[in-house]
Amino acid sequence: MPAMPTLKIDNARYVVTVDPQRRIIQGGSVLIENDRIRQVGKAAELAGARADRVIDARHMVVTPGFVNGHMHISYAHAVRGIFLDDIGSPLPTVFKLQMAMTEEEEHATSLLGIVELLKNGTVCFVDPGSTKFPDACLQAYEDAGIRVIIGEGVTDREAPFRLPRYATDEAISRSSSFIKKWHGRLNGRLRAWAMPFSGETCSADLLRALKRLADEHRTGLTLHHSTGPQIRAECEARFGFRPTEYLESLGIMGPNVVYAHVLGLDDAEIDCLARTGTAAAMCPVTAAKGGRGVGEHGRLPELLAKGVKVALGCDSPNNSNHLDIVRALNMAAIQYKDARQDMKQIPAETALELATLTGAQALGVGDEIGSLEAGKKADLVLFDTQRPEWQALFNPINNLVYNADGRSVHTVIVDGRVVIDAYRQTFVDEPRLYAKVQEIGEKLLARTGVSLPRSRWPIV
Ligand SMILES: [Zn+2]
Repeated sequence: MPAMPTLKIDNARYVVTVDPQRRIIQGGSVLIENDRIRQVGKAAELAGARADRVIDARHMVVTPGFVNGHMHISYAHAVRGIFLDDIGSPLPTVFKLQMAMTEEEEHATSLLGIVELLKNGTVCFVDPGSTKFPDACLQAYEDAGIRVIIGEGVTDREAPFRLPRYATDEAISRSSSFIKKWHGRLNGRLRAWAMPFSGETCSADLLRALKRLADEHRTGLTLHHSTGPQIRAECEARFGFRPTEYLESLGIMGPNVVYAHVLGLDDAEIDCLARTGTAAAMCPVTAAKGGRGVGEHGRLPELLAKGVKVALGCDSPNNSNHLDIVRALNMAAIQYKDARQDMKQIPAETALELATLTGAQALGVGDEIGSLEAGKKADLVLFDTQRPEWQALFNPINNLVYNADGRSVHTVIVDGRVVIDAYRQTFVDEPRLYAKVQEIGEKLLARTGVSLPRSRWPIV
C-alpha cells in the first residue's frame, strides 16, 4: 500500500491552535497526513518528522480554516454593487435576479464566490438554499476543494418577494430527495440540510416535516429568523406566539438547527435557544450596513454568555458585500463595543472563536474542524506577516482581528489539500471568469428589465 501523502507546515511564527487550552505556539509546526492533522507542536518536537512537502512558515501565522455560517452564493456576484444606499430594501430585486439565473450562470457566479471565499480563508460555508442548480455547481465545489453545506431552499406560503414556492408536499419531497442525493458527497465535504426560508414563509406542516427529515438523516436545518418589533407583532396576531415561541411550539429547535441573523431576540428567546441547543449564524457586516440597529437588536454577547453556539456569516455579495470573514470578525469585535459603549464586549479572542471552533460547533462540524489538533481534519489558513498591516507583531490575535484582513491569506489547506498556494489557486482561470461574470451581470439585468440608477455621481 502506498504511503499516505504528508505535508508539514514548518516553524510558523505562531500557530493559533484554538485547542482546549487555546495555546498559541511560537515557532510551531503542524504535520498533516492525508486529510488529517497528525501532530501539532513546537518545531523542535517535530524536527524529525519528514514530509512529502514542507512549507516554510517562519513568516506565517497559522490558524484553523474559517467557517462562514450564512453565505448566499448564487446570483449576486454578477450584479454586485448595483444597489445605491438610498434605494431602500433591495430584497425584491435580489430575488427577481436570483430566480432568473441559468444553470451556466450560476455555476460561474458560484465559482467566483468560492474563489473569493477560499482566498479569504473560508474553508466551509453554508449556502442557505440559494443554489438552484447543484448538479452544475458540484463541479465547482469539487474543483475548488471547499466544504459546503447546501440545501433546497423552499417555502409554501406567500412572501413579500419571489422565493421558490411549492405545495407543501412537493416542498417536503424536494427537500427529502435533495438530502438523499447530496448528503456526504465529496468525501464528506458536502453536507445537505433542510432549508425552509423562514418561519413566516413556511407552513407549520412544512416546518415540522423538514425538521423530521433533518433528524432522520442526522443532518441540519437552517432558516432566517429575526424577531424585530414588526415581525413580533405579526406573529402574535397570527399565531398567538412570539416568533421564537412559535418555532419552539413546532419543535423547530435543537442542536441541528441554525437560526440566521437572530436580531431582536429577547431574554426569553435567548434562554430558549440555550435550553434547546439551537445554534445561530449572525452577519455583523450585513447588520451594520443595513442599518439594522445592532445597539438595540444585536444580542451576540448574551447568546454567547448563555452558551449558544454562534457562527458568523457574510450573507451575500449585495448585503455585506464582501466574503471576507476576517472583516466580519473585525466587525463583530468592534460593533458591540460601540453599541454598548463598553470595550470589554466581544474580545478579539471571542471573535476569532466565532469564525473557527464556536462557528464550526454551530454548524455541527466542530468535531472535524475549527481547531488545530491531532486527529482533526487538516483545514488551515496561513497568514503572511510580511506585510505592513501585520507590523509590529506581539499578539497575533489582536493583529489578525484588528489590523489584518483576508488579503494577507497566503495559503489555505482543506482536507489536507493545498487549495490556495502562495496566493494562487489553480482550479479556474480568474481573468476569464471575471470577464464572464461581468457579462452575465449585464445580460441578467437586460433580461429581467432591472434598471436602477448606476451611480449617484455622473459616470462620464
Ligand atoms: Zn439569508
